[in-house]
Amino acid sequence: MLRPTVWPPRSRSRRLRAAVAQQRWPMQHIIGLGSAPIALFGTREQKERFLAPAARGDYLAAFGLTEAHAGSDAGATRTAAVLDGDEWVINGSKMWITNAPIAGHIIVTAVTDRERGKKGISALIVPRATPGMSFGKHESKMGLRGSVTAAISFDNVRVPKNNLLGERGRGFIQFLQVLDGGRIGIAAMAVGLAQAAYEAALRYARERETFGKAIGTYQSVANMIADMDVALETARTMVYRAAWLKDQGRPFTREAAVAKLYASEAAERVCRDAIQVFGGYGYSQEFAVERLYRDVRLLTIGEGTSEILRGVIARSVLGALD
Ligand SMILES: Cc1cc2nc3c(=O)[nH]c(=O)nc-3n(C[C@H](O)[C@H](O)[C@H](O)COP(=O)(O)OP(=O)(O)OC[C@H]3O[C@@H](n4cnc5c(N)ncnc54)[C@H](O)[C@@H]3O)c2cc1C
Repeated sequence: MLRPTVWPPRSRSRRLRAAVAQQRWPMQHIIGLGSAPIALFGTREQKERFLAPAARGDYLAAFGLTEAHAGSDAGATRTAAVLDGDEWVINGSKMWITNAPIAGHIIVTAVTDRERGKKGISALIVPRATPGMSFGKHESKMGLRGSVTAAISFDNVRVPKNNLLGERGRGFIQFLQVLDGGRIGIAAMAVGLAQAAYEAALRYARERETFGKAIGTYQSVANMIADMDVALETARTMVYRAAWLKDQGRPFTREAAVAKLYASEAAERVCRDAIQVFGGYGYSQEFAVERLYRDVRLLTIGEGTSEILRGVIARSVLGALD
């Protein structure tokens, strides 16, 4: 995952530090997709200007890939950027962009050479408050409601030529690489949410009594706890393995997909079962397990749906068949 070795990671923003400490904003949203592309492909000047403040936590960053017609099929991007003298002029729109209206900068993928297909997509850095950029309403989401998600419109948005991130036409390859790393972060989020649900269920199974006995003494409840324990242990090991491979500079695309697929699906089961252990109380907003279940639901969708990941894994083990 992104390790700011050059820049002190300590945030200068007291508000942001407090929010992270209270876990209102998962770290994935702060140093994740909006910053990783700059760490991987940025010039020194881009890193100093955009990565340093994001890594210090002075501001949040965003990653604008998805469009109304281009989610899983992100290569179908329609947003376009044309070079006009020393500036890129961007037109189009993005959907479902985490942090968009509050981000200090947004990495935006856009078609720069339409006739080249996926090899004609590039990535550009758009700073906050660039004229011509506007945002849709904050999406009213099922979960993760502490994180802002909105659409973005680009109407002749101009950014300097040197805000191109990496090479022209490499945007598609770049975001595949960025998503590989992001998937480890999502898998880690899944482990964190599942851990919280597991610990709550464990406490409740010890304390809640029915028919004069703690519910944890009933085998059907104890089995749910045991299954949660196994799922968590397995998911955590997969996350560590994928992260270790990445840290070693070894290939990790398959392992990141395996970790994200398994951890997100296992975490959903763990959160579901935690509600079951709580019975009717688990269905109430008074208890955290209700929110954890809603929050965890996104993790089989964002940064590669479970269906897409099964395809990635199958292709990596089967090889090219056609
Ligand atoms: C809360 C939230 C935050 C988000 N944040 C961001 C962000 O910060 N930046 C960003 O760029 N995007 C973001 N997204 C978008 C997210 O990455 C996409 O929603 C996701 O990639 C799926 O795309 P889609 O919604 O268009 O679904 P679709 O691609 O339309 O898929 C619909 C269904 O079809 C299945 N499907 C599609 N193609 C295939 C296939 N080839 N094989 C098998 N099944 C297939 C999918 O698995 C899914 O079940 C966010 C989304 C949400 C909900």
